[in-house]
Amino acid sequence: MRIPIGISNRHVHLGQLEADKLFGPGYAFKKFKDITQPGQYACEETVTLVWEKWKIEKVRVMWPNRRTTQVEIMVGDNFILWTNAPIEVSGETKDLAYIKIVGPAGEVYGPFALVAQRHLHCTIKDAQELGIKNNDLIKMRVWGIRGLVFENVDVRARDDYALDFHVDIEEANAAGIKPGDRAELIR
Ligand SMILES: [Zn+2]
Repeated sequence: MRIPIGISNRHVHLGQLEADKLFGPGYAFKKFKDITQPGQYACEETVTLVWEKWKIEKVRVMWPNRRTTQVEIMVGDNFILWTNAPIEVSGETKDLAYIKIVGPAGEVYGPFALVAQRHLHCTIKDAQELGIKNNDLIKMRVWGIRGLVFENVDVRARDDYALDFHVDIEEANAAGIKPGDRAELIR
């Protein structure tokens, strides 16, 4: 089975508390574009990430809000910001890097930043067909001039997910992946 690949740029998921502080209480976020996971989208709104003297602007806010705020950056961003965000499964809340988020109505500061570990979204049925299960670590291959094998791909099997192998822009560039490319599960 050829599995679609989703390429993520840096982005933030906001908790309600931080959303209220950054954009004003009860602010209604506007849809910019859908992403592959059902019911989720990128918003028109962006924030600025700040650490020490450095900043990264125009970082996209994702919808829906989550229970806790999470800033997903890339390894290279750690060098830009002088942060030390660890590679973790998205949704992990322990030992994240401190970072400041600046929005139009205010700013927040806290242990929000991680680098998302590469992962495969799929339904329970997809997982069964692929012979894998939730939280497995699997290998995915891509082809081409920079073809390589991605190890430690975390499986996220849930019925409200769509089949999609998620890497960030750096990983995609390292493997020469372009939008629309596909990957294969290695057994
Ligand atoms: Zn994902």
